[in-house]
Amino acid sequence: MMLDKVVIANRGEIALRILRACRELGVHTVAIHSEVDRNLKHVLLADETVCIGPAPSARSYLNVPAIISAAEVTQADAIHPGYGFLSENAEFAEQVERSGYTFIGPRPDSIRTMGDKVAAIRTMREAGVPCVPGSDGPLGEDDHTNLGLARKIGYPIIIKAAAGGGGRGMRVVHSEGNLLNAIALTRTEAQNAFGSDVVYMEKFLETPRHIEFQVLGDGEGDAIHLGERDCSMQRRHQKVVEEAPAPGITPEQRATMGARCVEACKRMKYRGAGTFEFLYQDGEFYFIEMNTRVQVEHPVTEMITGVDIIKEQLRIAAGEGLSYTQDDIVIRGHAVECRVNAEDARTFLPSPGTIIQYHAPGGPGIRMDTHIYNGYPVPPHYDSMIGKLIAYGDTRTSALARMRGALSEIVVEGINTNVALHRDICADAAFIAGGTDIHYLEKKLGL
Ligand code: ADP
Repeated sequence: MMLDKVVIANRGEIALRILRACRELGVHTVAIHSEVDRNLKHVLLADETVCIGPAPSARSYLNVPAIISAAEVTQADAIHPGYGFLSENAEFAEQVERSGYTFIGPRPDSIRTMGDKVAAIRTMREAGVPCVPGSDGPLGEDDHTNLGLARKIGYPIIIKAAAGGGGRGMRVVHSEGNLLNAIALTRTEAQNAFGSDVVYMEKFLETPRHIEFQVLGDGEGDAIHLGERDCSMQRRHQKVVEEAPAPGITPEQRATMGARCVEACKRMKYRGAGTFEFLYQDGEFYFIEMNTRVQVEHPVTEMITGVDIIKEQLRIAAGEGLSYTQDDIVIRGHAVECRVNAEDARTFLPSPGTIIQYHAPGGPGIRMDTHIYNGYPVPPHYDSMIGKLIAYGDTRTSALARMRGALSEIVVEGINTNVALHRDICADAAFIAGGTDIHYLEKKLGL
């Protein structure tokens, strides 16, 4: 392997996942961490560790000079950003490369293009990827034109900030009387939140499912897809349960949509792992955005394809290209993932604190990606996700049965978790039937 030492610029379960992949490939690891994260599992296991600052992310996991210095002092040759934090920050990727290190992710210009939703949609259209009917570009200042555009698209419509993210910078408009006001408000909000007042317009789909395609590109113009995932079980735009393949999607739909995503990757010479997110309604896919990093839910794809996505990221970054051709990728069985959060199952309030008892679930087809252990204190400063429970089976029915078994076995004491919510979801008749839309969970919760 051409990489000798990798800095893991993240924390929690994904940092541990990256460490394990490095170990398997004989790559040395450097765990960077904040002052409160000295006892994270991957920090205890890493070859070297560097404390890069105090607990608040802005001063540690988002502190670019501190992270690059850590690579310098440990003489590492690459940085893996994980997900969240700096993973989709084009300036960070650029600084990493300018400082002489390999960024384990796409080229900065790919991150930048996909981070601008208007530019991303344009790129996708050119590659033949279907998008939501909309303004095909930024909205201008002319009220008359904007009213005409919306009338042509048909209400309800959604106004979105080109630089938006994390479910922010969006506003649904149900009738003409509210349009101009909504455009002005979204512009102001976008300017304040993202430093850009560029907004665009899309048809608002009322009952879509969230279906996304996983891709890998070698950075030289070759790319493959690993099929799709269904992540429709969401609360406040946050995914709660994911599965692969997506219920009801045919092999033909998978092949067609997968090929279009691959085409888009080939055109931009995409490097590394990425995800094309779509809304799916009435049998049609509509591109909404691309994530230029590994995703939380990557394990369900790993389970049904046998591809280790993190190892592929490392190999691609090392210049070794793709280990698979499209024909090598065979989808087998079904996998479901439940995100386990340190939060109250009913109020969703975060529940940091020390884990006094942890019993991991097990048995055939069960995988638990977590950094928690007995005595581990969950700090209050970061995302509340403490692990991911993944169940695989040769059929969806078997995967769900194994998941229910695992959810009845898992014990996490000392903090509140959302395990009870997952038990409810996995016993829910509509979820068991498959194909629920993105509003299902909030309706079920009475929100
Ligand atoms: P972000 O980058 O903030 O996650 P996305 O463009 O991915 O923004 O949209 C986030 C969520 O907003 C989607 O998962 C979906 O629930 C909703 N959404 C976005 N665009 C539309 C649309 N055209 N119609 C209906 N819902 C939409």
